[in-house]
Formats: sequence, structure tokens, C-alpha cells
Amino acid sequence: MSVQKSLAEIGQKVFSELHDMGVPPTPECYEVWFKYRQNSTPELTKEIETHIAAGKRVDADFLMRIFYQFCENKDLGPVFQRYFERMLGEVEGLQGVAQGLSESAKEFGSDVAVLSPAPDQTISDAELRSLLAALIETAAQATQRNQELENKLSVAIDNISRLRDSIEAIEQDAYTDYLTKLANRRRFEKFLNDAIEYAERDKEPLSLIICDIDYFKKFNDEYGHQIGDQVLKYVADVLRNNTKGRDLAARYGGEEFAIVLPNTTLKNAQTLAEQIRVRLAKKRLVNKAGNQDLGTITMSFGVAEHVGSTGAESLFERADQALYEAKAEGRNKVVIHERMRLHRA
Ligand code: GH3
Ligand code: MG
Ligand code: MG
Repeated sequence: MSVQKSLAEIGQKVFSELHDMGVPPTPECYEVWFKYRQNSTPELTKEIETHIAAGKRVDADFLMRIFYQFCENKDLGPVFQRYFERMLGEVEGLQGVAQGLSESAKEFGSDVAVLSPAPDQTISDAELRSLLAALIETAAQATQRNQELENKLSVAIDNISRLRDSIEAIEQDAYTDYLTKLANRRRFEKFLNDAIEYAERDKEPLSLIICDIDYFKKFNDEYGHQIGDQVLKYVADVLRNNTKGRDLAARYGGEEFAIVLPNTTLKNAQTLAEQIRVRLAKKRLVNKAGNQDLGTITMSFGVAEHVGSTGAESLFERADQALYEAKAEGRNKVVIHERMRLHRA
């Protein structure tokens, strides 16, 4: 067996195992499980085996953590390259099977033609019996061959549908913040550009809120990065629960978030920001185990409304400037960037 073949077999196994574990076979998960099955990175294998031995579930979050720990290199290109080669292999396999099916049908047809006597030919009972026996045998073989091909076809179709799901998952991942599951910066930027275009076309207002957790460095220093991560998830939930319809809440960067508000005036955006600010500031946080009071966290907000045809960058800059002022004015505050100031500038 060639090395290439055995790698392809591992690839096949990896796909079905990820599927059985309910893990989306994204390139990262695929890469980790492939390395594990290939046993090419001893530390990675050990980490996974310890996890399994502890009775913990292997899920996408776990595999992503392993990926960042052992597989991430500066250039993710090769991982994706290998993954897409694998996918191409599946599609080619499917074409091969389809071709096999049609050839098998052709062969059967020609067997029947050879075995059928010409109309003017006389034929004895014995000959007829043996011809019929041969025909039945050929038919049985063809049926069996077709059955095998059909089985392969259904496996290939199954794999391809999983691949399609995983491509959707990849697209989803590419636009989702891994920690909070909010839209990420890439999605935010695209969304904001589109939203501005629609607002101009439909002559609708459009507002933007940018917000940033206050003194978050201090919080991390005091309670640790992991609890800090929990707080980021909590903030994301608050933003998610306070937005609706066409609004988009996004994690813009570390502890900085943004909300794009189509068809919303500056005044209404300010009201929403104020509502979120109060909701956050009022809530006393406790850690997951419920035995540690973490106090409260606050956020500062900058709000701006799109004006004229100044573009996404200008809108963002104005909201960011307002946020900067909210910080300078003592934090836990909403500051709006008013139109007038733009004209004065
Ligand atoms: P300010 O009120 O001026 O915003 O102060 P700050 O401390 O929040 O701001 P600064 O920019 O000095 O520090 C941001 C901190 O956010 C530093 C970093 O520890 C934390 N942070 C950024 N991203 C993450 C993350 O993904 N997880 C955790 N736990 N902390 C993060
Ligand atoms: Mg901050
Ligand atoms: Mg910040």
C-alpha cells in the first residue's frame, strides 16, 4: 500500500469519526484529528488521550484549543490546502463511481447482445438452457457489481454532504468571533459598509455604537484571564439580548464591541446605549461556581449617526472619538458625536 493511499484512508476515517462525535469537520478540527490518527505529534496525541481518559467530551471547542496549542502556524494556508485537496479527492471519487456505474450498465448490455441468438438461427434446448444460464450468471454479476458501486456512491455522497456542511461551518467561523460567538471584526466591517450603502439608497438613518469595557486590564489582573473571558461572553450576551431585527452586535477587538443600527436615529441609538450601560452597571457578577463575588463591570460608549456620504471610516472615527471622550470623562458613560461638531471641525 502506498503512503498516499494510507493517508487517504486516514482522511476517510477522520471524516467519519468527526461525524460520529458530532464535530463539524472544519479544516482545524480535521487537521487535529488527522494528526491524532496519524500519531505524528506525540504531545498532541498525549493531550487528547488524557482528555478522553478523564471522560471528557471531544467537541469543537476542545479541538480548536488543541489546534491553537499544537498546530497553528503563522500561515494557515497549508492546513486549508490539505483540506481542500481531500475534498477534491472525494469529488473525483464520486465522478469515478458514476463512471463505473455507467460502464457496468454498458457491459451488461453487450453481454445480452452476444448471448441473444439471431432471429434466423435455430437453437437446441440444451444450447438455450446454457445460454440462459450464462445470461443469468452475467446478470447476477452485474447486479452485484452495481450494488458495490452503489454502496461506494452512497458513501461518497455522504462524505460530500458532510463536506458541504463543513464549508458552511467554515464560512460561519470566518465571520464569527470564536469566544463570544458574536459577529467578528471582518463581518462587522462588511456589514457596516453594506448598511451604509442601503441607508443612502433608502434615505434611512443609520447609527453606530462602539463600546469598551472599563479598566478591564485591572479586572484580568485581579481575577485571571479565564474569568475575564467569561465576562466577555457575558457582555456579548447582554449586547445580543438588547439588539434585534436588522441590528448587528459584533466583537470588534479584545474588550471592544460595536453595534450597527440600521434605520435608527442618533437619539434612539443613544437611548439603547444608555439602556445597555445601566443594565451592565447594575449587575453584580459572580463566578460560575457561584462562590466568588466579582463586583460589577462597566462600559463606556461612543455613538454616532451616519451623515451625508462620508463612508464607514468616518462614521467609525466619530463614534470612536465619542468613546474616547466617554473614557476621558470618567468612564461608565454614553457620549454622542453630534452632527454639528462635524460641521464645525
Ligand atoms: P480602559 O478603561 O481605558 O478601557 O482600560 P482597560 O484596562 O480596559 O484597557 P486596556 O486597553 O489598557 O486593556 C485592555 C485589556 O483587555 C487588556 C487585556 O488583558 C484585556 N483583554 C483583551 N482581550 C481579552 C480577551 O480575549 N480575554 C481576556 N480575558 N482579556 C482580554
Ligand atoms: Mg477597556
Ligand atoms: Mg480597549
